[in-house]
Amino acid sequence: MSELIAAVATPPGTGGVGILRLSGPGAARAAAQVFRPKGKRPLTEAPDRQLLYGTLLDREGRAIDTGLAFVSRAPHSYTGEETAELQCHGSPMVLSLVLEALWAAGARQARAGEFTQRAFLNGKLDLTQAEAVIDLIDAETPAAARQAAGQLEGVLSRRIEEIYSGLTDVMAHFCAVLDYPDEDIDPFQAQQLQEALDRQGEALQALLRTSRRGRLLTQGITCVLIGRPNAGKSSLLNALAGYERAIVTHIPGTTRDTVEGKITLAGHPFRLVDTAGLRDSDDPIEQLGVERSRAAMAQADLILMVCDGTQPWTDEDTDLLNQAVDQADTILVANKSDLPGHGTPMFVSDGTGHSLTVVGLSAKTGLGMELLEEALTAQAEALFPRTQEGAYGQLLTNQRQTDAVRRAAESVARASQALAAGITPDALLTDVEAAMAALGELTGKTLREDITSRIFERFCVGK
Ligand code: GDP
Repeated sequence: MSELIAAVATPPGTGGVGILRLSGPGAARAAAQVFRPKGKRPLTEAPDRQLLYGTLLDREGRAIDTGLAFVSRAPHSYTGEETAELQCHGSPMVLSLVLEALWAAGARQARAGEFTQRAFLNGKLDLTQAEAVIDLIDAETPAAARQAAGQLEGVLSRRIEEIYSGLTDVMAHFCAVLDYPDEDIDPFQAQQLQEALDRQGEALQALLRTSRRGRLLTQGITCVLIGRPNAGKSSLLNALAGYERAIVTHIPGTTRDTVEGKITLAGHPFRLVDTAGLRDSDDPIEQLGVERSRAAMAQADLILMVCDGTQPWTDEDTDLLNQAVDQADTILVANKSDLPGHGTPMFVSDGTGHSLTVVGLSAKTGLGMELLEEALTAQAEALFPRTQEGAYGQLLTNQRQTDAVRRAAESVARASQALAAGITPDALLTDVEAAMAALGELTGKTLREDITSRIFERFCVGK
């Protein structure tokens, strides 16, 4: 039997409106204890989701605000349980007095994400939909919000369900064959099974291909700044972040600090990473921080190499730039264009595989910053093709989802190869089962306590 929980659902601080929610047995009765309607009908007898106007009371029954309240009975509520919501003015004092009154009425403080966790446990949402709730709350761009909304609506769940159901059919076929172990599998049937299995394998691969775009959308395009000390990396990061008023935070790394800033340009999210601490050596090679840059570059979707345009271009610079172009699309920023003697390096990169754009600017005066913004936007547009805009909601947006789909795809591929090699069906069953278990983990059909509790810990209290 679940307990009655309550929490303030609106953010801390003052605001126009403050909302408290309750979920669990006795939610309506507890809410009625702190809310006196103006009309005759008590809150406990109000129809589901019908707003009543009335007075909010503290634990001694004294009026402390006027507001609205409604109840929603199981199973027609967010959590699937009996719930109630109280809306008052967004005063931290009023909210805390009402909350205290709710404790007196038998509720306890809800843990972070407990409402959504209950919604999941009661089958109102699957696990990918529950994750979409956090993604939606955290969304920083319109595209990220649309993606999360689609996932919350069940677009990804349905896609996974189709694959799961396809694999269930394959299992059923295998089991039918296993009932007659002495008979060889009929070639026609084997062919059909192979096709059915491969169809699901392809669907899983298609899903896997969405993970990069999903990651870029939710975490931002990781843009790593490299270059010599004093080239102006921090200044450039601040200029970019300041332009968008993003918060630049110091994130302790394992060996050195990296500085990160999140910005949005033309609706595209960027995560700017400055490899700080590259300034403690006299050795010109080490000054370039080649080793340390390499680690940072490995996680880059885009590299910004910053150089001081007033300094001579060296062979070491060429090496670093070539390495960058080998790793990812690169923008070379010739900084300090406000100073005399500034020039833009002229050379042909022999790095392979990725594009190189050169931009001259001054991080200090802002001269030419718009050229960099254009270059960044062009890169983002290449990474988020417009033709895929309709696909919101069906992207894999985090590592947990991607890992589960990858395991499912690998199991299906193994089963398919084994079938093609004429291995007996019982040997394949294990692989198909493993694929289904991985998909079950993804949607939460097969419960894994460790995974689910980690997901709900990421929520805020009241959600
Ligand atoms: P980092 O070591 O690459 O992060 O470089 P910083 O951003 O710390 O900059 C090194 C020095 O160059 C600082 O004194 C900055 O004020 C200066 N600086 C950075 N960008 C410019 C610029 O565009 N013009 C001028 N004149 N100075 C700059």
